[in-house]
Amino acid sequence: MISFFNEKPLACWKGKDVYRGSVLDCLTVIFKTGGCSWNRCRMCGYRHERYPPMAPADLTTRLVAQMAWVQREYPQSDYQMVKIFTSGSFFDADEVPASARRAILAGFRGKLVIAETRPEYVAPGAIREGRELIDDGSWDCPLYVATGLETTSDFIREKCIDKGFRLRDFHDAVAAARAGGAGMKTYLMMKPPFLTEREAMDDMQRSIEEAAPVSDMISMNLCTVQNRTDVEYYWKRGMYRPPYLWSALAVLAAAPVHVSCDPVGGGKKRGPHNCGSCDFDIVRGIREYSLSGDRDLLAALMETECRCKEEWEFVLAGERPYCMPLTR
Ligand code: SF4
Ligand SMILES: [Zn+2]
Repeated sequence: MISFFNEKPLACWKGKDVYRGSVLDCLTVIFKTGGCSWNRCRMCGYRHERYPPMAPADLTTRLVAQMAWVQREYPQSDYQMVKIFTSGSFFDADEVPASARRAILAGFRGKLVIAETRPEYVAPGAIREGRELIDDGSWDCPLYVATGLETTSDFIREKCIDKGFRLRDFHDAVAAARAGGAGMKTYLMMKPPFLTEREAMDDMQRSIEEAAPVSDMISMNLCTVQNRTDVEYYWKRGMYRPPYLWSALAVLAAAPVHVSCDPVGGGKKRGPHNCGSCDFDIVRGIREYSLSGDRDLLAALMETECRCKEEWEFVLAGERPYCMPLTR
């Protein structure tokens, strides 16, 4: 018989996150699953991280083993919040069989759980069941559904990301999550391919304003160049540059609500970056702001003197979108 004793998630780490103004200890888990059913987004390398096709019962065994590993390695008393990611959607039963989903949620009973999923898998029944499994009365809203809306523009979501759902699908998911007793966390993504720096900033500003009324939390992801993606293809040919950290700062400073941001890969050539010399302080400042909500810190960071700021302003003013020919 095969032993699953060493089965473990793709990644698992402890950090801090903010909830209603309080900083909590937070466990982030990325479970390895059957993989994203959509599997097409241009910037996404996570979708390659998946088990080969197998029977749902075998997949469940592996997921339950991963959960056991989490419980062995991270004592429950060490964290209050859990962020669950998969290489797709936690509420997609093809990716995470319902029995595995129930086992994982029951294992996090008493925690504040944020679970990522595409909107088409948000159904009130599954959400209500999930909430009941984790709810021990510690939190008035113990479950949040997190969805990668990325942008409120259907045009940009379709053409630049190939995300495969529309804004109205997201709004349906918000309604279903709330009907099931869950809150809503919205992930937005800054600078998918084919946008200029200015267009990307404008898109993010507009998206934050439009998503805020239906979101309990908003997190802004800054696009990175992941392996084996369309974005990497364009980046290697000089047709894509990740966003400037200046742009992220400016958007956070102008946002009408608190938006959290973890600039993953910040300062690296495949991640959001400036010139190399000012990046470290700005990345650290953005992380600090995400926890503190201190807008004075953002204002002070925007005043940082660096030669690359002029370059960024030049790019904002002068970069033009270029079109591929429609005919040969
Ligand atoms: S971004 Fe999400 S929905 Fe898109 S391919 Fe990746 S895992 Fe699937
Ligand atoms: Zn600089």
